[in-house]
Amino acid sequence: RVRGDAGQDPTEPPHSGAYPFPPVPDEPSIADLRSRLARAGVTPAALPLGVDIDAWLRRGPTPWDAFPDTTGAKCDAESVGIAAALAHPNVTLETGARVTRLEADAGGRIVAVDYRQGGTDRRLAPGLVILSAGAVNSAALLLGSGLANRSDQVGRNFMNHNCSAVLAVHPFRRNTAVYQKTLMVNDFYLTGGPDGAPLGNIQLLGRISGPILSATAGLPGPVAGWLSRHAIDFYAMSEDLPDPDSRVTLRGDRIVLDWRRSNWAAHAALVARLKAVLRRAGFPLVLSKPFDRRTPSHQCGTARMGTDPATSVVDPFCRSHDHPNLFVVDASFLPTSAAVNPALTIAAQALRAADHIRRKDLAA
Ligand SMILES: Cc1cc2nc3c(=O)[nH]c(=O)nc-3n(C[C@H](O)[C@H](O)[C@H](O)COP(=O)(O)OP(=O)(O)OC[C@H]3O[C@@H](n4cnc5c(N)ncnc54)[C@H](O)[C@@H]3O)c2cc1C
Repeated sequence: RVRGDAGQDPTEPPHSGAYPFPPVPDEPSIADLRSRLARAGVTPAALPLGVDIDAWLRRGPTPWDAFPDTTGAKCDAESVGIAAALAHPNVTLETGARVTRLEADAGGRIVAVDYRQGGTDRRLAPGLVILSAGAVNSAALLLGSGLANRSDQVGRNFMNHNCSAVLAVHPFRRNTAVYQKTLMVNDFYLTGGPDGAPLGNIQLLGRISGPILSATAGLPGPVAGWLSRHAIDFYAMSEDLPDPDSRVTLRGDRIVLDWRRSNWAAHAALVARLKAVLRRAGFPLVLSKPFDRRTPSHQCGTARMGTDPATSVVDPFCRSHDHPNLFVVDASFLPTSAAVNPALTIAAQALRAADHIRRKDLAA
């Protein structure tokens, strides 16, 4: 269900096949931006997107998309996975359930999952456990249960991209796009910094409305509204490097996050290069604001994948090195954060791990 075109981005790695669906087309303001960027010397390419754009636009002209979608228009875990799984009579979904602890037997097999649901403590005795609680909560559950941590790597190497919103404003041009997230620029992904250092990815952001701008930048409503109507909103993203001291720990029942942000100079250089490109592309006013720790949208890396049980938590199929019937399949397996949105990579690895589990663990 992913839309894209592998032929447009010069940094695109090899693919086993073409994207199953063509890219989401540019609306007129973005088609104009695409030509301006090309004339300014960079290479705009289709942004790979897991969205059913017709369903998205049917719900209404909704330009901002950073919220859970209940219409099935976003190709999220519910619309592309859980809904299909629930069609099988042997699948049950327990909702409103918070897992509190996993338990292993002396041989290392996970034998119990404790959870709390509607004020009642419950317990499952599963044959196989796939933990997908996200980079912070999966690490917290493993630490709280004292499991999967022979390497002392659980909770470590927490990463969260270095990101900035960049607004390209032209006082006499209105941005009429509803769904503007259709292009990216990777000219500075592999190089572009001092000594050819990699800087990161640039893409369009969901549109930042006047009220969002007013709330986040403290601007008066009418000024924020005007800016929003005349801006095209970009997202600049740079890698956060793995650091064992950047970590999730537990203090009693409380989760403590000690994020040590890295690689900020590369991010500042990426934003500076983007601003220069946008001025060349005909935007006289270019504004930027970094995302801080209150917007940790791409957290990852706390149960790193690897082949060596001494230095990693899970193997390349996300199986715990310490517990043969435990898989950790979420953003925590990522050993590095790269500089692209993680969801499609997590989904691709989940499909790969699922296929492995089907062949190795469920075949009998
Ligand atoms: C505002 C925002 C915008 C984003 N936009 C993009 C984007 O455009 N593209 C992109 O690629 N990525 C985007 N991301 C990032 C993407 O959503 C995450 O990288 C991805 O969802 C991580 O997947 P995950 O499986 O690790 O965790 P999650 O998707 O967070 O799933 C973890 C699940 O586990 C549940 N859970 C946690 N603890 C427990 C527990 N103890 N018991 C039971 N359940 C539990 C949680 O409720 C949650 O449902 C965005 C994130 C945010 C916050």
